[in-house]
Amino acid sequence: MSHDFEVAIVGGGHNALVAACYLAKAGKKVVVLEKNQEFGGATKSVYAFEGVGAKLSRYSYLVALFPDQIKQDLDLKFETLSRTVSSYTPSGNTGILINRSFDAESRESITAFASNIEESDAWERFYKRIGVFAEVLAPTMLEPLKDETEVKALIGEELWDEFVVQPLEVTLSKYFKNDLVKGIVLTDGLIGTFTSATERLSNICFLYHLIGNGTGEWRVPKGGMGKLVEALLQRATSLGVEMRVGTEVLGVNTSKDGVTIKLNTGEELSAKVLLSGAAPKVLERIAGINAPTLRDGSQVKMNMVLKRLPNLKSGVDPRRAFAGTFHIDESYEQLEKAYHQAKSGVIPDVIPSEMYCHTLTDPSILSESMQEAGNHTLTLFALHTPASLFDKDHDLVKVEVTKRILAGLNRYLVEPIEELLLNDAAGQPCIEVKTPQELEAEIDLPRGNIFHSDLMWPWRTRGEQGKWGVETTHDRIFIAGAGAVRGGGVSGIAGHNAAMAALERLAKSN
Ligand SMILES: Cc1cc2nc3c(=O)[nH]c(=O)nc-3n(C[C@H](O)[C@H](O)[C@H](O)COP(=O)(O)OP(=O)(O)OC[C@H]3O[C@@H](n4cnc5c(N)ncnc54)[C@H](O)[C@@H]3O)c2cc1C
Repeated sequence: MSHDFEVAIVGGGHNALVAACYLAKAGKKVVVLEKNQEFGGATKSVYAFEGVGAKLSRYSYLVALFPDQIKQDLDLKFETLSRTVSSYTPSGNTGILINRSFDAESRESITAFASNIEESDAWERFYKRIGVFAEVLAPTMLEPLKDETEVKALIGEELWDEFVVQPLEVTLSKYFKNDLVKGIVLTDGLIGTFTSATERLSNICFLYHLIGNGTGEWRVPKGGMGKLVEALLQRATSLGVEMRVGTEVLGVNTSKDGVTIKLNTGEELSAKVLLSGAAPKVLERIAGINAPTLRDGSQVKMNMVLKRLPNLKSGVDPRRAFAGTFHIDESYEQLEKAYHQAKSGVIPDVIPSEMYCHTLTDPSILSESMQEAGNHTLTLFALHTPASLFDKDHDLVKVEVTKRILAGLNRYLVEPIEELLLNDAAGQPCIEVKTPQELEAEIDLPRGNIFHSDLMWPWRTRGEQGKWGVETTHDRIFIAGAGAVRGGGVSGIAGHNAAMAALERLAKSN
């Protein structure tokens, strides 16, 4: 039977585009089918406010996991920039400032805050140890999935026990005594995942946040996250990939030698192999391939444009405080309390969140006149706000959650953030807020889960996980999106690995 395409890809997120580029580079005839009017999924940059020249990374905003190897293989014109500061965490009228390289100033800041030199020593020891995971795991992400026993042997028994076997709660308590220091460390185990330090899902989330490219450094995408999509689109087009927007895949029928794809346009396409860059729940709906159960997405994302940066009660220069990750109400106890409140169906009294200012590292997302006027953008990501909280009275809950998040931020500012918001052309303040439900409606993230599925250990824990971690129960259908083993985040890894699996499948004679 002749097919329209060798490979059809559902969805046009960055992973799908990475897969398309690798496949087209290998000479395959590929089509990408995206339901929205633009490609990019969760990696878009947009002018979110009418008449305001600020191109914001609307959803995802920092990059750590995207391997340099993919950039080189595909010759992508996409740059990321280092932030000078790693994080600032205000507490009362003081706070903890940690520079990107853990230097004397960072050490002194922790020591002064905790009144204890052991806490900064522990910080250094802890991150050196987790660095071993980064060195071992980062180079394996684009290789066939390693077995758990193999990885364990490379990591060593003691480290394995600390970071894989013991819940994060136990290991963090072993190293850190100070509640705020412990909370700053814990946040990497929670971002994008509705979990607690007592659950091992937080260990998995933690590893993901610290292994990117062997360093775990979170960098600013130059020109905004949309630049990654632009680079991928340029490459895919030059390689001859057929790209379609406004094209939703409604159904997939499988046969022994391929798939038939039903589109919203009424058309039907056939392909030898299907990749899904959409979430496993979407694949379940369109192709009947069972998806694992997943937790609610549990974040609220806010984008703001400011007249100028706010001043802080602690007196720290805002150009430093907001250059890195600005942690708001993220002590260990605050994080745990918020989790348990949200889990029991109550909006947390104090909603932990974190924020950073893109334009301090990369002003290029602002028009020249805005740069001259001293305008800035802020991107805020609130934790422990699961979709379930918004199921009833969505709009009312959204108003209340927004109020609590901004009150949390305002506790540390000299003047309320609301007074510093720029107005758009219609006189409305430049602030947009996205709940998990809105993320599902806009870009099909099931229950707003930003990783498509619950994250999995980046090695084989079960026999059925297949060679690349992208396999499904149908041997011509592969997962090319964040829901693959080693998917999640802006990494392109799932796209690369699905392309490798598809090439191997196409090389078979039947
Ligand atoms: C608010 C937010 C903040 C985040 N912050 C970060 C961050 O800073 N750093 C980071 O690394 N990660 C971050 N993430 C996570 C990261 O963005 C995602 O995990 C990743 O971008 C997923 O990419 P993907 O290509 O696998 O899928 P997606 O980007 O989700 O793309 C899937 C595409 O499939 C399309 N689609 C769905 N169903 C169909 C269908 N039936 N037919 C056709 N098309 C379909 C969708 O429209 C979408 O375009 C964030 C995510 C969100 C939502």
